Amino acid sequence: MNNKLMAQLLFPNINKSPADYEEIYPPRNLPEGARVTRFAPSPTGFLHFGSLFAAFVSQKAAKASGGIFYLRIEDTDKKREVENGVSGMVNGLKDFGIIPDEGMLNETEEKGSYGPYIQSKRTPIYQAYVKSLVEQGLAYPCFMTEDEIASVRKQQEAEKKLPGIYGDYAKYRGITYEDAKSRIEAGEEYVVRLLSPGKPEGKVSFNDAVKGKIEMPENILDVVLLKKDGTPTYHFAHAVDDHLMRTTDVTRGDEWISSAPIHLQLFRVLGFKAPRYAHISPIMKEDMETGGKRKLSKRKDPEAAVSYYSSVGIPKEAVLEYLLTIANSNYEDWKLANKNAAPSEFKFALNKMSKAGALFDLIKLTDISKNYISTLSAEEVYDRVSEWAQANDEVLYRLITEDENYAKSIFAIERGNAKPRKDISKWDEVKDYISYFYDELWDRKRDLPENLSNEDMRLILETYEKLYNHDAPAEEWFPTVRNMAESLGYAKTPKLYKKTPELYKGHAGDVAGVIRAAVTGRRNTPDLYEIMQTLGKDEVIKRISETIGLL
Ligand code: GLU
Repeated sequence: MNNKLMAQLLFPNINKSPADYEEIYPPRNLPEGARVTRFAPSPTGFLHFGSLFAAFVSQKAAKASGGIFYLRIEDTDKKREVENGVSGMVNGLKDFGIIPDEGMLNETEEKGSYGPYIQSKRTPIYQAYVKSLVEQGLAYPCFMTEDEIASVRKQQEAEKKLPGIYGDYAKYRGITYEDAKSRIEAGEEYVVRLLSPGKPEGKVSFNDAVKGKIEMPENILDVVLLKKDGTPTYHFAHAVDDHLMRTTDVTRGDEWISSAPIHLQLFRVLGFKAPRYAHISPIMKEDMETGGKRKLSKRKDPEAAVSYYSSVGIPKEAVLEYLLTIANSNYEDWKLANKNAAPSEFKFALNKMSKAGALFDLIKLTDISKNYISTLSAEEVYDRVSEWAQANDEVLYRLITEDENYAKSIFAIERGNAKPRKDISKWDEVKDYISYFYDELWDRKRDLPENLSNEDMRLILETYEKLYNHDAPAEEWFPTVRNMAESLGYAKTPKLYKKTPELYKGHAGDVAGVIRAAVTGRRNTPDLYEIMQTLGKDEVIKRISETIGLL
């Protein structure tokens, strides 16, 4: 009776019961084995690479089982909120093609029938559950002041006891209805605490999908369920939300493992079936200063922000494929065995995730990105580069869009064949990569080979200038150079040259190198024939004679 009165005293305006909410949010109608997972960030607007990874894993786990993946915004901590923070998270995910089945779409809109998907709009729901716990004598109002709590903590520290409000330290355990009533009437502030059923010697264990069996001491703390302003703590909100949203698998960072005993206890007292947990290890980084490992840090590592990848122009497909390699170590073997399969065909498994944190490996990501970009058509590269440049590089954008066909023919060089070149790993490299095709970008400097004299180089270029036939087919290009090389005293092949170097000035490759440097300024380029075809006859001749003038 007392409990009922107490519940009514604390929550006079809460009329719905847990049973009502059970009806509003019924179990989902999904096939056997389908997982319901979620990504539950605070609306900080900043999407950390580790959070993207968690969201990715969560979505994969749901999709691999034919289930649902939703986005819930956890804004119980108002300090962490920023303007348009929800949209920041939603768009950050969208940039990587991660579109939840349900959840917040922006600051105010949402989709799905298990909402509201933002915690600040769920206060009456949390309060209904707390009200019911109070009715059952499983929760109570606590009027301890900050000072009282601090002095309890001090005493506990001095006595080397577990810090917190529990057992005899929980001053308001067993508070009467009358006492609570007069304090509330006097305007005293209070929180609502769980009356923890935990025993000091009790143990709790669970099977974590990533970490395996975990056993920990039971929770004995009378944790706060509702704060002074009536809003829930993360612990409590998570339990109610994951239950009512019918989450089957909670995938979250492993920093939450230490709170799992509280959560499992909350599920128990609330009469909910606990979800399965999959605690994900953080992405680590080699620390240059200490030589050890540390978590990828928002403060120290630019690549910790997902905006980094779009700003340097690493395609989202490459980032996602990289995430797969960190998520499941068998992905790379699968990829080798299924060269032509799309990464999305890979069967992701939560229990194949590594227990220890994967090391962030920019080289591997760059490699994946290079491979991915090499599979794109010239049209696709053009589209991607112009989209990227529009947002990031005005000059590049203008140059390539001014003459779309010219730009596409540049991107077509050594592309679309059986062994496409892998020169580009991110879009911010493109400007330099194509610079010698554009007067505005090219400094006209020639990085000429060092093993030939100026006189020899001049002779090569003068001869070639006369010989150059822009209309000759590709197959004739190198034989022509080879014959010319031979006539000027160079070996036809490097092999021949190596055998008797004293007989030659060099070999045909050296001769081609001089032409390459004259036409492009560089020692290394894609296929020179294709480059010259793209530049056009006049430009090729102009560049050769210009180089002769430099020698
Ligand atoms: N809001 C929590 C966080 O941002 C979510 C933890 C969870 O996924 O349960 O860390």
